[in-house]
Amino acid sequence: MSEPSCFTNRVAVLATMHYKEKVIAPILELELGLKIVVPPHLDTDRFGTFTREQPRPGNQLETAQLKAQQALALTGETLAIASEGAFGPHPQILWLSCDREIVLLLDQRQGIEIVGQTLSTETNFASQTIASYAEAQAFAAKAGFPTHGLIIMSDRDTKNSSAIYKGIRTETALYEAVKQALAQSTTGRIHIETDMRAMHNPTRMQAIAAATEDLVRNIRQVCPQCGCPGFAIVEALPGLLCAHCHSPTRLTRSVRYECQKCHSSEEVLFPNGLTTADPAQCLYCNP
Ligand SMILES: [Zn+2]
Ligand SMILES: [Zn+2]
Repeated sequence: MSEPSCFTNRVAVLATMHYKEKVIAPILELELGLKIVVPPHLDTDRFGTFTREQPRPGNQLETAQLKAQQALALTGETLAIASEGAFGPHPQILWLSCDREIVLLLDQRQGIEIVGQTLSTETNFASQTIASYAEAQAFAAKAGFPTHGLIIMSDRDTKNSSAIYKGIRTETALYEAVKQALAQSTTGRIHIETDMRAMHNPTRMQAIAAATEDLVRNIRQVCPQCGCPGFAIVEALPGLLCAHCHSPTRLTRSVRYECQKCHSSEEVLFPNGLTTADPAQCLYCNP
């Protein structure tokens, strides 16, 4: 597959106000020859905040799409990049916290959208109810403070919290925020959580970089028919045969790639490198 040249020297507006350009811009400028600009008056907080004052308007992908569209509307450009993170329990290993990051490229000139993503268990994502500065310090020690920011509020529910202290990066600021929040609390208990905004979270910045690299890989997959970038997997087809009894299993046998522009498609067998399924995964051999 050849290198797509349709992005070389084009301006791409990056929808961020949390300094994500620090990790996204060097990768896209080096790998694709894009010129990344950050629009100065874009308020991405209206598309949701991690501290729950502003709910997200849609799912992770829809929210990234809205940010990208907003950046294009604001600047009149035709190419936008947006990223969106989500934190929570790992889909398979529920006691592990994970960070799912997506980075989206929206090209209005070509009418295409390409997504890169990563699922990382490297995250400090955590929150706790505390009643003293000592408990805040213990939480801070586990959360990578002070290279990673913290948030203090008198109540986890932002509607009941009289103030939210965000982006705490020094001992003094932490001490003051805990003192103030405790004074405002009616229960003697307050809420502490990790600040997941990119500029206060270098671990998250690394995950955003990984999702950006995935985006570059996906852009480089060009359609064999028309050369459009982003020839991506749209479907995984089950039916990998059991190594013992040769019955079809639910494991993936092939994946289907499809072009967004000309809709030509290609089926690729054994994407995981396995040509047969472990009998432990077979409904007949291991019911
Ligand atoms: Zn095509
Ligand atoms: Zn079997």
